[in-house]
Amino acid sequence: MQRTLPDKLPAPRLVIGGGDVISTSGGVYEHHYAATGGVQAEVPLAGPAEVDAAVAAARAAFPAWRDLDLNRRRDILQELARRLVADGERLGAIATLEVGTPNLLASSSSAMAADWFTYYAGWIGRSAGEVVPVPAGGALDYVLDEPLGVIAAIIPWNGPLISIGMKVAPALAAGNCVVLKPPENAPFSALRFAELAAEAGLPPGVLNVIPGGAEAGSALCSHPGVDKITFTGGGETARKVFAAAAQALTPVVLELGGKSANIVFPDADLDAAATMAVSAGLMMLSGQGCILPTRLLVHDDVYDEMVTRVVAGADALTVGDPWQPTTMMGPLATAAQLERVTRAVDSALSDKAGKLLAGGRRPDGLDAGYFYRPTVFGDVDPASDLAQTEIFGPVLAILRFRSEEEAVELANNTQYGLAAYIHTRDLRRAHVMAAALDAGGVAVNGFPIVPSAAPFGGVKQSGFGREGGIWGLREFQRTKNVYIGLQ
Ligand code: NAD
Repeated sequence: MQRTLPDKLPAPRLVIGGGDVISTSGGVYEHHYAATGGVQAEVPLAGPAEVDAAVAAARAAFPAWRDLDLNRRRDILQELARRLVADGERLGAIATLEVGTPNLLASSSSAMAADWFTYYAGWIGRSAGEVVPVPAGGALDYVLDEPLGVIAAIIPWNGPLISIGMKVAPALAAGNCVVLKPPENAPFSALRFAELAAEAGLPPGVLNVIPGGAEAGSALCSHPGVDKITFTGGGETARKVFAAAAQALTPVVLELGGKSANIVFPDADLDAAATMAVSAGLMMLSGQGCILPTRLLVHDDVYDEMVTRVVAGADALTVGDPWQPTTMMGPLATAAQLERVTRAVDSALSDKAGKLLAGGRRPDGLDAGYFYRPTVFGDVDPASDLAQTEIFGPVLAILRFRSEEEAVELANNTQYGLAAYIHTRDLRRAHVMAAALDAGGVAVNGFPIVPSAAPFGGVKQSGFGREGGIWGLREFQRTKNVYIGLQ
């Protein structure tokens, strides 16, 4: 399985003010191909000097981008969307090489990112301000929605292209310039995106890409030239981002982790519920996704039947070479991820947090890459780490409940609040549960992967702020009131 195609990877570099920069002031990251562990690239990383340069380039490009004819701004974003679709195969190959995503599934993320650009291109020229009635006559009062200026977009490695769609599309549509910081281990999708953006006519400096780690992230978050930070990542990093942003009182959007409950009632379509539990709860991105339903809550009446189906589904998943069209689950993204998942499963076993029903080990014959079998624990103790902490890997915790009230209590009983899922055919129950669940989003009988027109984000330790729809656009606008005396 020594299939690597490094020629598909864009040259590792920084893109600042439209020019390529090779600087190693933030160090060099040795990039390993997740399916073999082999080194396939050396990634130069931004340090504080490149952060300064990128912010300055974005600041310099801002007035012209803000004032550009709106039809032209819209045309550029629409053209970028078209280019993302046309480049699907290449971007899919990059995702496979970058983080080991099965190639069959990887190609879809460029279409998803394109959808976000098309959607937000549609808002350009349509986000009008308001005229506000003032108590005394003889005056006109109106509200302007203005861009903020320079947006720092810090993204994780698990789905870089989708994060780019969710952050960069609304930021640019609102008239801002962007400094995009992908992580060390996933710079390639962002760099290819920058090439497509330039080809689509995005002026130099409007988008700057600076791959980097904690040093670059921290310099960016405390930079006085940044007007807003939009961050997706883990809670521990988010606290550092928030603390750094406090220095310049820079506002932040934080999209963090989750441990989303997937609640199955006896009246549900069990086929559909079991399919989703396996595909979204275990297989998708090898479990490395913030919104994935990693806690399965099953009513006592159908518990045994659901468990049987889910375990059979997990055991049937083909784990292996991400280039093979039959592969359903690729490797984890990095050696650190493999270590994290292995540690979490080993602790769950030694804590007796639940009964191991599937997986719990690496697959046979795939020792070189970062593979792990889809793993299922049943009758999980709700207080255990296994039930409480995001693992970010293919590990499903199944819990049992006996009433709606108990389901709500279990579902809400974690620090997170990103998403929740319900399977029922009972309309009353669907609405009652949707209202009672402590989550930024609730889905009934389905798994919507972040639709561009809907608000996406968390509550509690899953963060704050929203991406998607008008809510996502407003995050990148400031409000100005204008009062004009007419007497
Ligand atoms: P992470 O927090 O380690 O890194 C996220 C980003 O922050 C990376 O670009 C990283 O380089 C950067 N960073 C690291 N230290 C920094 C610092 N001191 N200051 C500023 N930036 C810094 O997260 P990860 O391991 O890349 O991703 C996994 C986490 O992201 C999980 O918790 C997952 O749930 C979460 N996530 C959330 C969403 C969502 O939309 N809610 C989506 C995907 C992933």
